[in-house]
Amino acid sequence: MANNKTHNEEHCSFCGRPASQAGMLLSGISGYICAECSSQAERIFKEQKHQGSKFDLQGMEIPTPTAIKDFLDLYVIGQEAAKRVLSVAVYNHYKRLRYNKEHGDKNEVEIEKSNIVMVGETGTGKTLLARTIARLLKVPFCIADATTLTEAGYVGDDVENVLVRLLQAADYDVAACERGIVFIDEIDKIARKSENTSITRDVSGEGVQQALLKLLEGAEVNVPPEGGRKHPEQKLIKIDTRNILFICGGAFDGIERAIAARLNSNVIGFKGDEKRQELDRDNMLQYVQPMDLKKFGLIPELVGRFPVLTALQPLDRDALRRILTEPKNALTKQYIELFKMDDVTLVFDPAALDLVVDRAVEYHLGARGLRSIMEGIMTDLMYDLPGMPKGSTYTLTRDEAEKKIRL
Ligand code: ADP
Repeated sequence: MANNKTHNEEHCSFCGRPASQAGMLLSGISGYICAECSSQAERIFKEQKHQGSKFDLQGMEIPTPTAIKDFLDLYVIGQEAAKRVLSVAVYNHYKRLRYNKEHGDKNEVEIEKSNIVMVGETGTGKTLLARTIARLLKVPFCIADATTLTEAGYVGDDVENVLVRLLQAADYDVAACERGIVFIDEIDKIARKSENTSITRDVSGEGVQQALLKLLEGAEVNVPPEGGRKHPEQKLIKIDTRNILFICGGAFDGIERAIAARLNSNVIGFKGDEKRQELDRDNMLQYVQPMDLKKFGLIPELVGRFPVLTALQPLDRDALRRILTEPKNALTKQYIELFKMDDVTLVFDPAALDLVVDRAVEYHLGARGLRSIMEGIMTDLMYDLPGMPKGSTYTLTRDEAEKKIRL
């Protein structure tokens, strides 16, 4: 065999020098590396990490609550109360990160994390709010669904896998992951079924809450980098959850009854009928308190870890109508752009949009329904779009929209 390498001597697979020149070589599966190449590699990795990190907080201005809310306003319609609460919580999250960084272990005052629970009907913008916040902030963000979580050892996702997702969102930058935001959806679905502690194991309820508690309490958690179950041979990555902000969302169906019961009994205590009249009976969620979450079946320790609690408003007809046209990435704006790419100007007759809103209300689909109804109308049109004359204008009328919905 033609080989100019010194016979029987190992060579560095990177610079090609034999062991007699390069010194000690480390062996890998199919090659070797010398000390010099290995330290050069380390340098390159470090530089890359610093340059390339999307999540570098260094020198970043902390956005004020007003700036955060203004940004949320671009994407989310209504939900004023929730936006204000979130803006302050996120602002404080940043300040806390900075405070801890500046004071190190010599903290005189420990600023606590403001994990958040958002209570609101499905499709009112909980996920959208969390997602929009993450878009503004230079921190990794991931969404987890509480219904898929189980205690370690049971069939389903281990709670730690939430962190795996965050780590992946952080491009495996552990430091960035450790100050990221996790959105846990459908937190109400892991409520225990009754307030009494049961003797039988509740695999997907209280057990998961206990497991989640560990993450929330600020522990060092070992996670398998690729997710899935832990294998004995897999190298685990240690993640400190102290600075990770957890935002949870849930519909908490039926919690209004607990709220109403609490408020009614309070009112009796005050002997004030006026107070009872002030209550907005159609929207009891706005009065939600931590104790209502407990009544619903979240364990007190978990509720205690969520100091910020806010409610989202049900979306009325007016809000739905605005959602169609106002947000920065509103559905109508998206379709107009798609048409523009084929050189056709798309115009929505306001009456056609009213029809879409009517249908969404009729089907009780909320904002989630807007997209499927619009898609139903627009698919046919987009099929024919390339055949439409370039430079023309297409107006979607109510009649046309009605026909397409009926199809
Ligand atoms: P959920 O409250 O169930 O998490 P989402 O945030 O996922 O609801 O909302 C579903 C979709 O409905 C979003 O992607 C968005 O397009 C639309 N939507 C819901 N609420 C709003 C809102 N307040 N403003 C703008 N769009 C909204």
